[in-house]
Amino acid sequence: MTISLAYDEDAAEEPLAPLAPLPAPSRVPIRPAPRPVDLDAAEEAGRQFLLALGIDPDAPENPDLARTPLRFAAAYAEMLSPQPFDFTTFANQEGYDEMVLVRDIPVRSLCEHHLLPFTGTAHVAYLPADRVVGLSKIPRLVDHFARQPQTQERLTVQIADALAGHLQPRGVGVLIEASHSCMTLRGARAGDAATKTSAVRGALRDDARSRAEFFALVGGHAR
Ligand SMILES: [Zn+2]
Repeated sequence: MTISLAYDEDAAEEPLAPLAPLPAPSRVPIRPAPRPVDLDAAEEAGRQFLLALGIDPDAPENPDLARTPLRFAAAYAEMLSPQPFDFTTFANQEGYDEMVLVRDIPVRSLCEHHLLPFTGTAHVAYLPADRVVGLSKIPRLVDHFARQPQTQERLTVQIADALAGHLQPRGVGVLIEASHSCMTLRGARAGDAATKTSAVRGALRDDARSRAEFFALVGGHAR
């Protein structure tokens, strides 16, 4: 028995034009240095911390505090654990040479002086050379470096240097605008104060026009 399918035999005999082989993406594994986390010890330290401040987490009149040391420890363990990921790049087949900008990437980090959060946004740009990066990898890179005791200045530089190193673009620009709760909630109580930091590399540092374009796009100030 013959089964007939909608199939054009003549066309099938035409040799198919060979497809250009798709370039394989290149993956740079970004792995945090292994750092042991002892949650039990952190919980006990949290209990002692509260006790030293005159707050007894086991006071019977407030049973809701009993699990606070554990939650406190788990929250800090999470905020201080960089996540591994692959930094995936692709050949720049179309030769795209304009600036690529990812705006308004959330920044959530802990200042290393008070271990209080600083939060805001990062704008990250690069001028492609031979390779382009999967765009979702840029927020991953920001989050990766944010999950450690940080200064905003160092975070900005680490993101710029990692992007420059892994992607080898013609230029890199990073601008972070953040509010530090150690400034807004205590001390100076400078309510709306925001801190801007920037790092530029390659053509975004050396070429006045690229540099001006970056700062115009992200609303910062060219230094
Ligand atoms: Zn601080």
